[in-house]
Amino acid sequence: MIDQARQLLHTYYGYDSFRPGQEALVTSILDGKHTMGIMPTGGGKSVCYQLPSLLLNGLTIVISPLISLMKDQVDEIQELGISATYINSSLTYEETISRLKAVQHGEFRLLYLAPERLAAPHFLSRIQSLDIALIAIDEAHCLSHWGHDFRPSYLDIPHFIQQLQSEPSVLALTATATPTVAEDVCQTLGIPTENMVKTGFARENLTFSVIKGQDQTAYLTDYVQKNQNEAGIIYATTRKEVERITAKLKAKGIDAGQYHGGMDAQARAHSQERFVYDEVRVMVATNAFGMGINKSNVRYVIHAQIPRTMEAYYQEAGRAGRDGEESACILLFSPQDIQIQQYLLEQSQLNERRKAHEFRKLREMVNYCHTESCLQAYILEYFGESNPKDCKRCLHCTDDREVIDVTKEAQMVFSCVKRMKEKFGKTLVTQVLTGSSNQKIKDLRFHQLSTYGILKGESQKRVAAFIDFLTAHHYLTLTQGQYPVLQLGEKAVAALKGETKVMKKEAAAAKTQVASDD
Ligand code: ADP
Repeated sequence: MIDQARQLLHTYYGYDSFRPGQEALVTSILDGKHTMGIMPTGGGKSVCYQLPSLLLNGLTIVISPLISLMKDQVDEIQELGISATYINSSLTYEETISRLKAVQHGEFRLLYLAPERLAAPHFLSRIQSLDIALIAIDEAHCLSHWGHDFRPSYLDIPHFIQQLQSEPSVLALTATATPTVAEDVCQTLGIPTENMVKTGFARENLTFSVIKGQDQTAYLTDYVQKNQNEAGIIYATTRKEVERITAKLKAKGIDAGQYHGGMDAQARAHSQERFVYDEVRVMVATNAFGMGINKSNVRYVIHAQIPRTMEAYYQEAGRAGRDGEESACILLFSPQDIQIQQYLLEQSQLNERRKAHEFRKLREMVNYCHTESCLQAYILEYFGESNPKDCKRCLHCTDDREVIDVTKEAQMVFSCVKRMKEKFGKTLVTQVLTGSSNQKIKDLRFHQLSTYGILKGESQKRVAAFIDFLTAHHYLTLTQGQYPVLQLGEKAVAALKGETKVMKKEAAAAKTQVASDD
């Protein structure tokens, strides 16, 4: 059957070959297996259920949260010559019933549904007895509490599937799943983990950068001006910040679109349309913008502030370059922005376990900003790829500064952390190292430690940045919670014993004599 599928790929879509992962997914589905597919954005997930829908006996249901996009998706499929329809809250009751009847009469191969429909009894009773061959679940990470975009309505899916008389195959698809999320999704849907198809997450056409210590507004206006003819998205954490950045761009004569949850639906739709049709080149938005936006020529995505998780970051940044052309993903890092994210997390209604989990994710995001390794490789490792290759394109891969041995400075930091009994955070460790004379240090008698003032000539900012580097490279670890405490990782213990060296692109601290008793 896979040969037939390849033939159809050519006839319906005009493509000569499968993209990575597509063939394995289509084969698995045609074999009637429950399957999970993890492929990057733009990897071609839709084909993986559209093709089987043409070959299987029975209806294919596609569950997708992207209501605003369903009409366009269905229009596109119909243009290819595949019969499809959708049902979501944008339709009147009469229209819904009429479409359901058409589905019952077997007029469509594909039915797109919003997950909110699934629990409605009148809906279930009409659908239950149909011959359904395949249930494809798009954005399947929404099923997992451990993902970054959990949607309660997705939890209706397993129950819905159980109620169906035909026993359809299930295909869960996502572009962002850590191993934990993927396992969770498989378990919830009864997909054997060996039926998971995962293609490389690397996006060869994206160039990642983290920019520190620059004036954010100046950077943004300058970048947008230099790339006036290119489409780009600027993500900001809050609505207020979106409005501020848009105003700054406009003040420079740049026509910028704006999108956030505080705007009414009509204004948002209008703004989105202007961007999609290239009437404005740059869109300033909160994370409310973009899920499922079908714009392939976005040349840059800039995050004006740090997002909360790597999943969110990769998904948002991944909206650049869906057409395969070279595109830039830039994150502007400022330490204060971490505090905003921490504050938002602290204020959230999550239970303690979830909160701790989210703090851990935020920490991984912060580490991304402080690593000196390949940024793409950091991302791939986060998503579970082992030993990913350096991309040779990102800011760090192309940074040709000299690599310097900073083992001595690192040892000073490690021994200070150790002498402070691994019970204090970055700020206090930095103050002790630089010999600050504040009262807390005196109260705790840290001014009597041999490591007190051992990095005296250095600014606190530099030492703090060095600690961030050591944390990002797992020499130091931080405990959970709002007031994280620095502890020594295995690598630090090895470095203290002189078993490994600590190398860095530039010296974080001037060469200072190591205290004699160290
Ligand atoms: P995803 O949902 O994974 O982000 P899509 O299904 O929207 O990706 O596909 C992204 C683009 O790749 C679409 O324009 C699609 O037509 C194209 N595409 C999919 N499969 C192939 C293929 N085998 N060969 C060439 N292009 C493909």
